[in-house]
Amino acid sequence: MKAAVMHGVNQPLTIEDVEVDEPRQGEVLVKTSASGVCHSDLHFMEGSYPTQTPIVLGHESAGVVEKVGEGVVNVKPGDRVVIAFVTSCSHCANCVQGKPHLCDNTGRLGRNDRLKLNGQPMAQFANMSAFAEYQLVSANACVPVPDGVPMEVAALVGCSVMTGVGAVSNTAKIPVGSTVAVIGAGGVGLNVIQGAKLAGASRIIAVDLLENKLAAARDFGATDVVDASSDDAVKKVQEITSGGVDYAFEAIGLAKTAEQCFGMVKRGGKAVVVGMIPVTDSVNLPGVSFLQEKGIIGSFYGSTRQTYDMPWLMELYRQKRLKIDELITKRWKLDQINEAYDSLKQGEVNRSVLLFD
Ligand SMILES: [Zn+2]
Ligand SMILES: [Zn+2]
Repeated sequence: MKAAVMHGVNQPLTIEDVEVDEPRQGEVLVKTSASGVCHSDLHFMEGSYPTQTPIVLGHESAGVVEKVGEGVVNVKPGDRVVIAFVTSCSHCANCVQGKPHLCDNTGRLGRNDRLKLNGQPMAQFANMSAFAEYQLVSANACVPVPDGVPMEVAALVGCSVMTGVGAVSNTAKIPVGSTVAVIGAGGVGLNVIQGAKLAGASRIIAVDLLENKLAAARDFGATDVVDASSDDAVKKVQEITSGGVDYAFEAIGLAKTAEQCFGMVKRGGKAVVVGMIPVTDSVNLPGVSFLQEKGIIGSFYGSTRQTYDMPWLMELYRQKRLKIDELITKRWKLDQINEAYDSLKQGEVNRSVLLFD
């Protein structure tokens, strides 16, 4: 199969022939239909997160089941599926408490020798490696896609939609009427915004540096926007809400914006960090804030319970209560992947998708 291979930090991805193994017990081979161009992959390409190389990145995708291994009962060949990028064991303490995204055994469940490049075994990224024509995945990562949901839409449910909406509904569980600020109005931030709208937030303040992103934020439900290129964002949010918001979400992945996020929260409020802060960076917070019962938490993958959450997200899309078509501003082929990432770096798109034949 053709796949986009990363050979090293800050090197363009190259389209090469990669061999993919047959599915074994509990595994599924999926023919990729659509794969999202997510910012998280860029962290690995740019080296702010470490990865072994060579590797095939990609973790936001949907496809059609080609073959199933022994014992697979939840999907069959021909089924359209979203692929979740967490692999869970379903029996550890976190799994049985409904937190499969925090599965204690996820590392052990990785497949490290099932893709081959020039005869050499290669690890999978996120147990899927979605920038490829086929993906070998765990059956429990596959969620069937209902009729009326296009594959490019299903792909986005696999990361940006789940991560953004889930941060609000699952991780933070905001009460109706909450005031909310969202830093970063990209693929994930726009989904935090529409998640906050769905959850009945009274005020949704979007913060970004780019005018086109602030306009998109309004389309997705922001009631107010703050242009951080010309305003002190923390002050401005405190001003709009007379002292700060109940919940602030960081959807960029920088220590500085996580600190700003915490600064936007009022007494008793909570900051939620959704973005991937570089592994070498630390977040500094004023200690006195804890006397005001201010809190800060992380949110990973919208605290997904994929087989429960992804179906309702797709149902809300079907009923036009969740905007997903509008997130997709560009479509590319696999061999245009470097252009797609250049475009993402320029801030040109909400989300772009690679489409496969
Ligand atoms: Zn992603
Ligand atoms: Zn587990």
